[in-house]
Amino acid sequence: MFERAPAIGGAAVSDRDLWPGYTLSTASYVCSLLDPWLVEELDLHAHGLEYYRKDPYAFTPLLDGRSLLLGSDAAANAREIAAFDSRDVAGLEAYVGRTDRLGRALFDSFSDDDPRFDRFDAESQALLRGSAADLVERYVSTPALQAELVNDGLIGTYLGPRDPGTGYVLAHHLAGRLLGTQGSWAYVRGGMGSVSQALAASARSYGAELFCDAAVTRVIRDDAGRACGVEAGGTVSARAVVSNAHPKTTFLELGEPAALDAAFCAKLEGWKSVGPSLKINLALGELPDFTCRPGKNPQPHHRATIHVAPTVDYLQKAYESARRSGESDEPLIECFLQTPTDPSLAPPGKHILSIFAQYFPYDRAGGWTPAKRESAADKVVASLARYAPNLPGAIERRQVLAPPDLESKFGLIGGHIFHGELLPGQIYEDRFATRTPVPGLYLCGSGAHPGGCVSGFPGKRAATAVLRDLAR
Ligand SMILES: Cc1cc2nc3c(=O)[nH]c(=O)nc-3n(C[C@H](O)[C@H](O)[C@H](O)COP(=O)(O)OP(=O)(O)OC[C@H]3O[C@@H](n4cnc5c(N)ncnc54)[C@H](O)[C@@H]3O)c2cc1C
Repeated sequence: MFERAPAIGGAAVSDRDLWPGYTLSTASYVCSLLDPWLVEELDLHAHGLEYYRKDPYAFTPLLDGRSLLLGSDAAANAREIAAFDSRDVAGLEAYVGRTDRLGRALFDSFSDDDPRFDRFDAESQALLRGSAADLVERYVSTPALQAELVNDGLIGTYLGPRDPGTGYVLAHHLAGRLLGTQGSWAYVRGGMGSVSQALAASARSYGAELFCDAAVTRVIRDDAGRACGVEAGGTVSARAVVSNAHPKTTFLELGEPAALDAAFCAKLEGWKSVGPSLKINLALGELPDFTCRPGKNPQPHHRATIHVAPTVDYLQKAYESARRSGESDEPLIECFLQTPTDPSLAPPGKHILSIFAQYFPYDRAGGWTPAKRESAADKVVASLARYAPNLPGAIERRQVLAPPDLESKFGLIGGHIFHGELLPGQIYEDRFATRTPVPGLYLCGSGAHPGGCVSGFPGKRAATAVLRDLAR
């Protein structure tokens, strides 16, 4: 395995070198879609993988002093929701029932040999093609609850909650079964790089050799056009070549575009991969002290994903203002404090806050400059500070990764966190297939079905295809 970066893991990486004493989940930071079958098959627990349910899972502070905290305790959830609208207690239950069914259907389809969107029943297809807001608003009416629920439909996606297709993104984020409960998300001990490290250890135990600082510069093809090796410093011959680089990198940079047929080139050309996401990692001297739930000592809401999103319309405006002016006036923010769950990631008494914010698109008018990157991060911090006024003063270090940084650091073309939008037109039969037009070359990254998130599915599909093809 050849990785051009100094460490393996791509966007699932823990960085221990940036700030002494801190371990950062530089890009991805929570896990749900990882295939439990792979965890067992590759014995990832024996190779160091540990994860915990994120509980409580969601916290939405509001400026009027109220807040919404949801977790695994149904009675506590009911009390939280009833403080807004008691009808939404049953509404949320019905919503979870419906999205569990959707999520299960997606999960089952992730391993299909021949993935097809039209295998979903008509009602599910309509929900997946529709907007996240339509799906959520059928069931609940509390604005903060609606906003918290639609948020998963927007992650990585350059659309607003009222735009068609975000229903699919929402269901995709509820497809995971890692914890045995449909749709719940986990914190991975040691940060997200622990997933990659466990996979690497498992691979090595079977004899794999892994090389870092080893960029592949070309996929070599034999006279018959079959992929038969790579150039990575030297030449390495192989019976099969498997790439999790972005499809554009795989075919346009490392392959021979002239040898591809026109339809495939047109698909690469038209592939939507403009990312709107900004990742900010902060080292904090103290925990955020939320006006609505005061205190700097660790409390349950400090362990949840924290959402800045009071209403669905707030999120739609965040998207629309970015389309108009290049960035959101008031951005979507979700963030997660790793240290209340895993204090080993920071020096004693210090904390890490992973912030994921939208919409700050790769292709913003006037382009990105260092000053724009910092002012975008300032805007995000100021927005959070309206809810936790001590935050700006608590920041001791800050890492800001705008979409062009995600591109240069991780090879995410266009800064898109999923190697391209996960929207109808780019999912199932319309995503890139595992087997490519180049015999012997396979895609095993998120450009292939079922797309992004730390899931292992594209890799499992590629491994299965290679084994079957080589056995022929
Ligand atoms: C900011 C951010 C937050 C995210 N949050 C989450 C989250 O919380 N949970 C979640 O499940 N998912 C999250 N994701 C998405 C998830 O991280 C990705 O979908 C997943 O890591 C993609 O894995 P991959 O194998 O497809 O490719 P990548 O992780 O993109 O890895 C591709 C690798 O190929 C390497 N490469 C590229 N070109 C070459 C070359 N020529 N030679 C050698 N190596 C090369 C790159 O350096 C990179 O390491 C997030 C992503 C980002 C960017």
